[in-house]
Amino acid sequence: MMAMLGPMLLIAAAVSVSIGFYWQESLPRIVKVSGTLFFCGVFILILLYQKLPHRLALHLMSIALLFGLLATYLAYYERLTFIFWMIILIMIIMSNMMIERTLFYYMLFAVVLSFGVSLFYYPVLSVQMDQAFTFTLLVVFLFIIVASIVTNRIYQLILQKKTAMHAKALIQNENLSQLYDDVLAHQQQLKAQNELLVHYNSEIEENQERLEFLAYTDTLTGIPNRKMLLEQIELLIDLNRENSHRFALVFIDLDNFKKINDSMGHSAGDDLLIQVTTRLKNAMHEKDLLGRLGGDELAVLIRRQISDEGLLGYTQNLLNLLGNPLKLGDKSVIITASFGIAIWPLDAKNSGDLLKAADTAMYKAKELGKNSIQFYQKEMKTEVLYKMELENRMLEAYEKEEFFVEYQPIVNALDKKTVSFEALLRWKVPGRGLVSPAEFIPLAEEIGLIGELGEWVLRQACKKIIEIRNSLKMEIRIAVNVSAVQMKRPDFLEGIKSVIREEGVSPESLTFEITESVFIGNMEQAIEIIKELKDFGVMISLDDFGTGYSSLSYLMQLPIDVLKIDRSFINSIEKEEKNNRIVGSIIEMVHSLDIHVVAEGVEEILQFDFLKAKNCDSIQGYLLSRPLGDIAMAAHLKEQRDQK
Ligand code: C2E
Ligand code: CA
Ligand code: CA
Repeated sequence: MMAMLGPMLLIAAAVSVSIGFYWQESLPRIVKVSGTLFFCGVFILILLYQKLPHRLALHLMSIALLFGLLATYLAYYERLTFIFWMIILIMIIMSNMMIERTLFYYMLFAVVLSFGVSLFYYPVLSVQMDQAFTFTLLVVFLFIIVASIVTNRIYQLILQKKTAMHAKALIQNENLSQLYDDVLAHQQQLKAQNELLVHYNSEIEENQERLEFLAYTDTLTGIPNRKMLLEQIELLIDLNRENSHRFALVFIDLDNFKKINDSMGHSAGDDLLIQVTTRLKNAMHEKDLLGRLGGDELAVLIRRQISDEGLLGYTQNLLNLLGNPLKLGDKSVIITASFGIAIWPLDAKNSGDLLKAADTAMYKAKELGKNSIQFYQKEMKTEVLYKMELENRMLEAYEKEEFFVEYQPIVNALDKKTVSFEALLRWKVPGRGLVSPAEFIPLAEEIGLIGELGEWVLRQACKKIIEIRNSLKMEIRIAVNVSAVQMKRPDFLEGIKSVIREEGVSPESLTFEITESVFIGNMEQAIEIIKELKDFGVMISLDDFGTGYSSLSYLMQLPIDVLKIDRSFINSIEKEEKNNRIVGSIIEMVHSLDIHVVAEGVEEILQFDFLKAKNCDSIQGYLLSRPLGDIAMAAHLKEQRDQK
């Protein structure tokens, strides 16, 4: 209803204007018609104002108003017109009310102002009141319209700017809110992560102490580990640097620990280590520190001043203590150890070197027969280094085929015919030449290579028997050395039996040379193994007789076929009367046991003659032949065959 009020009022206004025009008889007809048409057109346009842009409607109305007033001015003497126009004006104003309240106030103000001003000056100018009012109103409206157009323009410009700024701000706001959302999401994520971190942190803290304990402690025995020991040495060095107070490090390596580990199992080995460390700890000075370096290696850091004699007494006591039998399960075992002592600052300046020096001294103690103590000496270093290098090279040498075998003839004392050969292992180290088996065999035993090495020599001997049979049509016997360490390995019997079977050699063509050391420890067990070997078909020879127990009485118990008198006896033949008698009686006595006698290391004809006279069965030595390589051996055999 309200929306219709404006248009209705406008129609009324248009009608009034048209009537007003026609009332003016003095106006030319053309002005009346065109004025009426114009107003009608304008008002029809205004009718549509709701569909027009707001401001355009406003302008059109203002123009309509202007023309209306102009027409009034032209016919101002007509009273009636003025009354009509007042009505029109009010109508227009009211219609404008619907559009813009402010403009309505302006117009109202203009009407009131014009009326007031007119009241004031129409007597002065002696014109009619309505004339003055109409004129003033016209001027005021003109001013208002111009002002409204100008301010509107300015307002629009400001608005445009504001809108642009607003749009910009809106975009920024949107960006910001997007950013805010992102931040919020991140924050939540961070919060979750933080919670996780806090959780981990507490867990880490809980483990920290345990880790620190583990980092410096040997898990098996609970004593300090290598790291801790080295740090303690460094600390001691720092403390004593000024005053140069000496202190000592004792390197302890258990003898034959590997054997116990291999034969009784790892848990027995662990048990043994725990018992050993407990024993040492109980006997140690309270100021000293026991640590485990790894495996069966321990060390005692002597953190006080002590003389060499005191040190020796102290460590000897520890060594003796270790020698007492230990209980492993239901078995009683005896473990010995080798001790190496190094002194700071005499033997080394830093912790690493001190440990190395003590290690070197220990190595020397091992070499000198184990179960002993050695102080470090500067010369040890080169010697030990050489040994260590050999050890390392030996592992490779086996793969690089640097080993080979020579065969030394053993001849019949009566006719000097070769009855058998002794297989002797050789190692040619590139750039160094031959290394003596007396040097590398003990090393091979120590690093556990002797089993493989022994089997390898046996295999070569078997191949040699076949080779000679095929090429020279001769049957030969070869004696192979078996080390005591090799023979005590649990897989010894199976190993050699399978080699002999694989190579297709009759066991009767082989002799195994063993030494008396085989019987040390468990004699019954050794005899059992030897019996089994004999049952298999090989012959057994007791090597180096005279260097070990050399007791003729126990020979009776041993199931041997051959006895080899050691070179040391042979050397002294014809030089010492007493020696001659001993050799003579050995041969006699051994013969009485139905054992074949071989004399080793015969270098002189006098020795040969003596042995022959004493009925020694076979002779081996440089006098008759040095150990032979493949070609020389074949030549030697051919010569023998052709002599027949
Ligand atoms: P062995 O079993 O007593 O071997 C005899 C050693 O005496 C050999 O030394 C041989 O070359 C040397 N020989 C022989 N006749 C004479 C002589 O007239 N005068 C002198 N001075 N020496 C003579 P080689 O080859 O140096 O072997 C040393 C030791 O190494 C051997 O002593 C043996 O115990 C060990 N060996 C050698 N080959 C093997 C092996 O394959 N396995 C094992 N387990 N030990 C081996
Ligand atoms: Ca031998
Ligand atoms: Ca020998």
